[in-house]
Amino acid sequence: MRPLDEYIVPWVRESEPYSARHMDFASEHPHLVRMMSNENLLPPSQKVVEAILEAARNANLYPDSGYTLRQRLTELAGLSADQVVLGNGSTDIINSVIHTFIAPGDEAIISVPTFPMYETRVRMAGGRAVLIPMTPDFYWDINAILHAITPKTKLIFICSPNNPTGNQISAADLQRVLAQGVPTFFDEAYYELEEKVVSRAGWIKDYLHLMVNRTFSKAFGLAGLRIGYLLCETGLANYLNRVKIPWNVNLLALSAALAALDDTEDQRMKRQNILAGREYIYREINRIPGFRALPSEGNFVLIDASALGKSSTEIMQAMITRGIFIRPMSGHNMPPGFIRITVGTPEQNRLFIETFKAYAAEVLGSLAGSTR
Ligand SMILES: *Cc1c(COP(=O)(O)O)cnc(C)c1O
Repeated sequence: MRPLDEYIVPWVRESEPYSARHMDFASEHPHLVRMMSNENLLPPSQKVVEAILEAARNANLYPDSGYTLRQRLTELAGLSADQVVLGNGSTDIINSVIHTFIAPGDEAIISVPTFPMYETRVRMAGGRAVLIPMTPDFYWDINAILHAITPKTKLIFICSPNNPTGNQISAADLQRVLAQGVPTFFDEAYYELEEKVVSRAGWIKDYLHLMVNRTFSKAFGLAGLRIGYLLCETGLANYLNRVKIPWNVNLLALSAALAALDDTEDQRMKRQNILAGREYIYREINRIPGFRALPSEGNFVLIDASALGKSSTEIMQAMITRGIFIRPMSGHNMPPGFIRITVGTPEQNRLFIETFKAYAAEVLGSLAGSTR
């Protein structure tokens, strides 16, 4: 008998399962402030919770195709309902898009650092992830991206505002990429939180190979319900609907998303919380000599804490001991000493800043002591 391993497709055999260890750790330690996963730390509004409870009464029934929600979403974007594809979180959409374009051996171009799921899911489809490092000041290296295109390139991933760098790609640079005609996945997971909100959904009319990805996980704060959506041209949506699993978005999520779209007052409050919080963290970190926070258009702030002379994992561990769970960025195509902080409530942000300052003073104090 052949060993079971030999039956497994090679790219699955050679990969590792996604590690949810940080999530499990956070669940086991509920006293920790969750600043590690870019969740919205404000809970759903009363209206959203009521919509979920109401939908729960029908949980014996299969969900429909989300027609009402798709209609609402596309009206908001100036498109039609057949130009939206719903996903069980936008990670599900990323997966469907990859399985629509990538056959084993095909290439996807990914500017890094960015959301790691693009690379993982491309690999899981047997594809080759062609990673293009951003420039040293963390901007898209457009020339290198264009240079990397080969006949095997089936997809290009651009995330803007980019997780974890927080910045946006310029219209002109995105146009240079789109001019190549290669299917382009443009991730707008954080667009509702931009200082000046700009979407590229309107460009779908001119670029039929442009896909605009969005989620209810961040600005709307529904990460636990798993719902995201893709905006694209009708013919392309038709292909994607063949690949995606039917009923992939559940009844509770569909109702919650509709209620969240209706609750504009809650949206405004949540957005304000993020904008004020990230400005505060940015300002306070940049006040500490030797440390640098990058300007962010998302619900997170990237910090260069290399002045501590510690690995980002060591920094994470030290912060966990002090009650705050942050994300180390080493192993994410970033230089050592970079950490990413999710914006929380004003009190949580203040707690983070005070804790981080005290920790930095401790480390740098002892460093000064040891060199004397
Ligand atoms: C958080 C995030 C997502 C998606 O999350 P879902 O919860 O799966 O919708 C997608 N893209 C980026 C860049 C993100 O940061």
